[in-house]
Amino acid sequence: MAAKPPEVKTADDKNDTLFIKIDGTHRGYKKEFLSQNIPPMMESILVCPICKGIMNNATVCLGSITCETCATPKGDKSKVTQVVSTVLGLDVKCPLLRQCEWSGKLSATQEHLDKCLLFKLKCPQGCGVIIERSKEANHKTTECVKRKINCKHCKKPFNSEQLDEHLKNCDSQPIKCPDGCGKEVAKKDAATHKNNDCPLADVKCPYDKYGCKLGTIKRKELMAHKTGNVMEHQDYILGSLAKLETENANLKKELTDTKTQLALRITNLEKGVKK
Ligand SMILES: [Zn+2]
Ligand SMILES: [Zn+2]
Ligand SMILES: [Zn+2]
Ligand SMILES: [Zn+2]
Ligand SMILES: [Zn+2]
Ligand SMILES: [Zn+2]
Repeated sequence: MAAKPPEVKTADDKNDTLFIKIDGTHRGYKKEFLSQNIPPMMESILVCPICKGIMNNATVCLGSITCETCATPKGDKSKVTQVVSTVLGLDVKCPLLRQCEWSGKLSATQEHLDKCLLFKLKCPQGCGVIIERSKEANHKTTECVKRKINCKHCKKPFNSEQLDEHLKNCDSQPIKCPDGCGKEVAKKDAATHKNNDCPLADVKCPYDKYGCKLGTIKRKELMAHKTGNVMEHQDYILGSLAKLETENANLKKELTDTKTQLALRITNLEKGVKK
């Protein structure tokens, strides 16, 4: 038993739906979507002898009437307006021949196909899916891999196919504090939290640069350290002050010496000029 070939899903083409195609050109209208059979006496007028379809833009050329695209390439052509308007006035049903209820005049079929809910089209967002027009809106907003979805963390829009990748890197997504305080912070705010708030982050005593030997301590224990070491911290400050005073005195002396030396050199220079 031969395997059933896979169903090829293609979008509807308006011209392919309406016209017979021969040698790559669209010829007469297909008969299938006419509401009634053509009466035998009308056949010779309305049916093209070349493509056997209903005359599409009936044209007379070298004595015979055919579709415009079936007419002999060389030779003077002129439209047979009577036939053209008779054809356009034929009663037809939806040319897709699906479950569509529509019926009307052949002249209105193009316009109907632009609106027909059963017309299959390619997703206009470019995902490659072929959908009936009736499902287009739903597909575009809820199924299409090219639809835009806002990241729930940073609120920026992404194609649904890009969103997973983005979520791995989104710097607004909440993470548990790496220092283990239990707080959830946006990834991008983790450093600020560590530097300013986290009770479990390692910090140094502010008196570290004045000589406190504590090293690092959890932020939540810093207050106890400060209140328990007031005298020691004061001593460090006093020690630093004394050092500063000595340095200051030394600097002052250096400055005075330099000034004296400069004055001496200027006096010597002036003496030299007067000579
Ligand atoms: Zn024809
Ligand atoms: Zn229809
Ligand atoms: Zn789509
Ligand atoms: Zn995001
Ligand atoms: Zn924390
Ligand atoms: Zn300290």
